[in-house]
Amino acid sequence: MKAAVFVEPGRIVLQDKPIPKVGPRDALLRVTLTTICGTDVHILKGEYPVARGLTIGHEPVGVIEELGSAVSGYRIGQRVIAGAITPCGQCHSCLDGHQSQCGGKAMGGWRLGNTIDGCQAEYVLIPDAMTNLAPIPDSLSDEQVLMCPDIMSTGFGGAESGHIRIGDTVAIFAQGPIGLCATVGAKLSGATRIFTVDGVSERLTMSRRLGADQAISFKDRDPVAVIMQSTNGRGVDVAIEALGTQGTFESCLRVLKPGGVLSSLGVYSGKLTLPLDAFAAGLGDHRIVTTLCPGGKERMRRLMNVLESGRADLRPLVTHTFALDRIEEAYDLFANQRDGVLKVAIKP
Ligand SMILES: [Zn+2]
Ligand SMILES: [Zn+2]
Repeated sequence: MKAAVFVEPGRIVLQDKPIPKVGPRDALLRVTLTTICGTDVHILKGEYPVARGLTIGHEPVGVIEELGSAVSGYRIGQRVIAGAITPCGQCHSCLDGHQSQCGGKAMGGWRLGNTIDGCQAEYVLIPDAMTNLAPIPDSLSDEQVLMCPDIMSTGFGGAESGHIRIGDTVAIFAQGPIGLCATVGAKLSGATRIFTVDGVSERLTMSRRLGADQAISFKDRDPVAVIMQSTNGRGVDVAIEALGTQGTFESCLRVLKPGGVLSSLGVYSGKLTLPLDAFAAGLGDHRIVTTLCPGGKERMRRLMNVLESGRADLRPLVTHTFALDRIEEAYDLFANQRDGVLKVAIKP
């Protein structure tokens, strides 16, 4: 089979690999659609280490090709997705409600395209199939559910971890695919005033389309000043960080009311510091929460429910489609953020 393999920093290359052998608890999927994540670009650049020879990709849409001997409740040929995070469903962390931290290790639930071969390939093995395979309703196309495994789950997770209440004012810093999904999630959670911040005009336009009341370009105005003025100095109830930089994290704190929640989705590197003036020297009752993409079949079922109900449609996030044969071109476009790209669909 063909698979996009990490060869060395700077090189993810399409190679021939054997089709994986199915263990008792696994399922083999024939991948029908997948995508490239910002995290995959970090892998490409060597900023996030993975083993050489690993197949990349953690956002699978596919059809069941083969089931392990211990797997029941599914049939060959069934259309399914699996989350980017594939928890075992049986360890202490999973049973304690922290499936993303499966095995008691930080990010332990992230296996596809990280610690085991991923899904930018013609076939992918899904571990712990009975915890992770979520059947796709007939009414939904592959394209409609492509954002469920990671981007939608993560973005919505940011809104949910922030415990947004009906009538809340929310600010979301960065409107890449995850930030945009956080905007949709904030609106669905009952926020009635949503500020979003980015520097790319196409993203701000998409942000307004998906639910932002005020989309602010940090290139034109100081977003902290705009948000504080617009809320009469009160600040926001929940601030969502969707990039992973000191600047956006700090801006979230600076627009957050005392007692508010900073819900962080970004992946940080180096060191992150807390400005104590914005943090009320530690006495502002601020809560800082972090979320790694929730996975597992129940999470996927709920997300697909949202799509089936028509309350959200994330297809506009997919701006380009490539055949798997052309995935190296897709990486080049996506990594360099050319041509207004948000997400690329990859068709094996
Ligand atoms: Zn991802
Ligand atoms: Zn587990």
